[in-house]
Amino acid sequence: MCNTFVLDMDELSRDFNDALLKEMECPVCMDYMVPPIKMCTNGHNICSKCRGRVTFCPTCRAEFSEIRNVALEHIARSQKYPCANRQHGCLELFSIEHIAEHHTVCVYGKIKCPFILNKTCKSAWSGFKSDLKEHAKVAHPGCFFELPSIRGLYADGIVSLLSYFGEFFVRYQRKRNGKVYAVVLLIGSSSEASKYKCEFALCAANGIEQISNTFLVQSYSEDLEKIFNSGKCFCVDEAVRRYFLIENISNFAIRLSPIH
Ligand SMILES: [Zn+2]
Ligand SMILES: [Zn+2]
Ligand SMILES: [Zn+2]
Ligand SMILES: [Zn+2]
Repeated sequence: MCNTFVLDMDELSRDFNDALLKEMECPVCMDYMVPPIKMCTNGHNICSKCRGRVTFCPTCRAEFSEIRNVALEHIARSQKYPCANRQHGCLELFSIEHIAEHHTVCVYGKIKCPFILNKTCKSAWSGFKSDLKEHAKVAHPGCFFELPSIRGLYADGIVSLLSYFGEFFVRYQRKRNGKVYAVVLLIGSSSEASKYKCEFALCAANGIEQISNTFLVQSYSEDLEKIFNSGKCFCVDEAVRRYFLIENISNFAIRLSPIH
């Protein structure tokens, strides 16, 4: 709990400055900027996540430089941030490293439907975690499983939602730079996610050859690019996946289990 600070509302209004917090918001994603904070040639700031996604400054259309706003990075690191659900009763304050993760697990907050990952949630649902099962049953019946394991095809961009062990797990697969990746994310914090492991298995038609790897489940709040780059997920060359095709379908299985 060393990163958590509980204060009453009076103390809250005294202890952080709304104007400063506003300055700390990224103009693109509106989240608080996590260092490194890069600047455009006119000095506008952008968060590290959004820097890779835009060519020009969203504020003035100038080009970005590689210069970091070190002063703002220092402020970002020393600032304590209020939970976005403050007006709904969450009075905790967090460091910049922990605020995003908290937002995914805050009981006062809403979460986005995990099927936004492959843009198959037509209503772009967001709601409370306690209502996610009902939504998934209605809107994503073919991709929602109340099981700890599933077997099926290995398709690019596929998302499945598993509800088991009283938790929600998101399975996501993606082709990237000639490799295929599969990851399982718990809708919860990193510490809750690390209580589970997932076995990924790709099986050949001959019933003999198989590739099987086990990884810790990652948190839904983690950045996917970071997970893919870190090696903390299943990954094989596209050529290997093709070799394992059975009648044009990869026989791919995942199995979740708690770590005792
Ligand atoms: Zn941003
Ligand atoms: Zn600018
Ligand atoms: Zn909260
Ligand atoms: Zn949905």
